[in-house]
Amino acid sequence: MRVRADRSVCIGSGLCVLRLPEMFDQSDDDGIVLVLRSNPDPDQEEAVLTAIAACPSGALRVDR
Ligand code: SF4
Repeated sequence: MRVRADRSVCIGSGLCVLRLPEMFDQSDDDGIVLVLRSNPDPDQEEAVLTAIAACPSGALRVDR
């Protein structure tokens, strides 16, 4: 699993950071998502998919 973020689509809601702060952060400059870790551990994959589904802008996606 590889997590990607389209920073041109992100609206900076911060939901992904609240759910998985070890994987996501927001830029200090504009609040837009930063992917800290694009390859989650296997035991994190379900939580990652839940966070992606909860993203209000559709900025996050996963490649397998
Ligand atoms: S949940 Fe989606 S819109 Fe909100 S900060 Fe994360 S990527 Fe951006």
